[in-house]
Amino acid sequence: MVTGAPAGGAATSGEPRAAGGQGAAYAVAAQTPDPELPMLTIADLGILRDVEATAEGVVVTITPTYSGCPAMREIGADVARRLAAAGFGSVTVKMQLAPPWSSDWITAEGRRKLAEAGIAPPSPASGQAGQGVAGGRSPGLAGQGVPGGRSPGLAGRSGPVPVKLSTVPSDIVRCPRCGSLSTRETARFGATACKSLHRCEACGEPFEAVKDI
Ligand SMILES: [Zn+2]
Repeated sequence: MVTGAPAGGAATSGEPRAAGGQGAAYAVAAQTPDPELPMLTIADLGILRDVEATAEGVVVTITPTYSGCPAMREIGADVARRLAAAGFGSVTVKMQLAPPWSSDWITAEGRRKLAEAGIAPPSPASGQAGQGVAGGRSPGLAGQGVPGGRSPGLAGRSGPVPVKLSTVPSDIVRCPRCGSLSTRETARFGATACKSLHRCEACGEPFEAVKDI
C-alpha cells in the first residue's frame, strides 16, 4: 500500500485554543483598578496572580492584600464584570491566601504611580535600596552590608533569600512631595486600613502612605 503516508492531517487539530484568549483575558483583568488605591491596577498591586482561560470559562486568581481591607469582593465582582463585558463567558474568581501578599509585590510601576499621586509607597522590596533610605541611621550598616547576625551560609545559596532587612524602622516614611525623611505619623489609619496619615516636617504637607506589610 502507500508506504509512509501520513495518517491524514485531521487528527491533530486538538491544540489548545486558550493561548490567545488567555492573554486577552489577562489584559482585561489586569486593568481592574484597586478600589482603595484607584490609581493602581490589581496588576500594579501584585495581587493578580493568575488568569486561566479554559473551555469552561476564565478563572482569575487573586491574593488579598491587607487583611483589614474589605475590598476583595468588590475587586472580584469588578474583574468578573470587565471580563464579561469583553466577551468572556463564565468567570470564576478565586482567592489564593498563600503565600500571603506583601507590599513588596507592588510593582515599580505601581510605586511610581503612588508617588505621582502624592502617596508614599511602601519600602522597596528586599532592602537593597536601603542605602539612601537608611540615611542618618547607623551608617555602618549601609556602608558594608549587614555585619554578622545573618548566617553567612545563606550567601552561598543561589537565588534571592526572602529576608527583610529592617534597617529602616517602619515608622519612617519619606515625604512623597519633597523627599524629606522628617515626617511623622499623624494617624495609623487613613481613609482606609491600607494607608496611614503623615505630616512632613520639612514642607509641612500632610500625605498618605501605603503601609508596609
Ligand atoms: Zn515634604
